[in-house]
Formats: sequence, C-alpha cells, structure tokens
Amino acid sequence: MNKEAYAAYLKQRKSSHKTNYYLVSLKELEEIHQKYDHKPSLLLHACCAVCASFPLELLSQHFELTVFFNNSNIWPQAEYDRRLSELYRYLQEANPSIPVVVTPYNNEEYMKPLEPMKDDPEGFGRCFYCYAVRLREAFAYAEEHEFDFVTTVMSISRQKDSQKINEIGRSLSRLYPSVSYFYSDFKKGGGQLRQKELVDEHQLYRQDYCGCIYSYTATHPEG
Ligand code: SF4
Repeated sequence: MNKEAYAAYLKQRKSSHKTNYYLVSLKELEEIHQKYDHKPSLLLHACCAVCASFPLELLSQHFELTVFFNNSNIWPQAEYDRRLSELYRYLQEANPSIPVVVTPYNNEEYMKPLEPMKDDPEGFGRCFYCYAVRLREAFAYAEEHEFDFVTTVMSISRQKDSQKINEIGRSLSRLYPSVSYFYSDFKKGGGQLRQKELVDEHQLYRQDYCGCIYSYTATHPEG
C-alpha cells in the first residue's frame, strides 16, 4: 500500500467540500416526477439484502425496479450463495414482483486486478476499483437493456465512501449517456433507521465483513 497516498486521501477527504447526495436525490425525485407521467425504469445494483432493504422500499415508490446482482467480489462461494438467497427471500417477503438479474460468479477472475491492492485499508484504492467495476457492469447492462436510470445500494453503508461512489457514478454516466445515474446517500434522511427496522422485521442475515477475501481476513485475523 502507498501510505503517503492514503494519508493524502484522508487529509483531502477531511478538508474538502462534501456534496449532500441525500439532498441531491430529493431534487432528482422532484424532477423525475415532473418529467415522467409513469414510473421510469431503474436498474439497482444490490450487494446483499441488508444493504438493499431500505433502497428497495424507497425506490420502488418512484421507479420500475430491476435488481442487478453482480458481486463476484464476494468470497467464498458459500457466502455469495447465502447473500443471494437472502436477497431473494427478502424480495419474496417485501416486494415479490421485482425481477432479479444475476450475472455469472467468477471470484478468481474478479480478484486478479485487486491483488496488487490487497494491503489497502478498507475504503481506499482497492474498494474504489471494486465499486467502479460493479457499477460499470450495471451501466453496461442498463444501456444494453434500455433502462432509464441506474444506481447502487452501496451508499447506505457507513463503511463506504458515498462521495466516491457518486463521483464514480457521475464519471460512468458520461461513458453511458443513454442511462441516467441516480445520485444517492441512502443512509441519510432516516434511511439507516428504517434499514434497521427492516432487517429486524425480516430477520435478515447480517454478514460481518464487506465481501472479498481481504476484508474477510481483516475481520477474522484468526483465520
Ligand atoms: S472490502 Fe468490499 S468494496 Fe473493498 S474490495 Fe473488498 S469487497 Fe470490494
């Protein structure tokens, strides 16, 4: 890990102006209601049921949703299978009409470019790359299947940098101009509180690490 780059990132993060993406999302919803006389389509990248619970509840009021599960970062496969089956269970219980697209699981291939960044602390370069890869896949699918919008549930997590996630979304929307990126900070505006209620109500499995083997090892140093 480049320690100087990490220190510079932390310093810049502390001092730089932060956009309140929750307020941005409220403005977007207002504009969407003015522009459309129907619910536009939105492809929602979801990494697990816990993170998806509140964004699904909120966004389903405004969009025709499709869930996109492309999470080859998750290790091992048993954990991937568990998170996917919890997501199916949650949808079945909360909103069974929402379709789910699952891309092929290939953790070995997915992790190759991340290996040189394996010592990065969580929430730095390796993770930025990981957010970008999965979001780019979502944009590509959304463009190919003519979705109006795309976004990810990841901004609900306190462990993830919402500024970075939304900046990545903004950059990708330039590469895929036919799809609009929906900016978000799902943790704000009561999102985290509602998430907790939904997790308790549906007894959702709450994993104790982000997903990849490096995050597993950091959380389980005993192996
Ligand atoms: S910690 Fe999470 S976001 Fe970071 S690389 Fe691993 S799976 Fe991706």
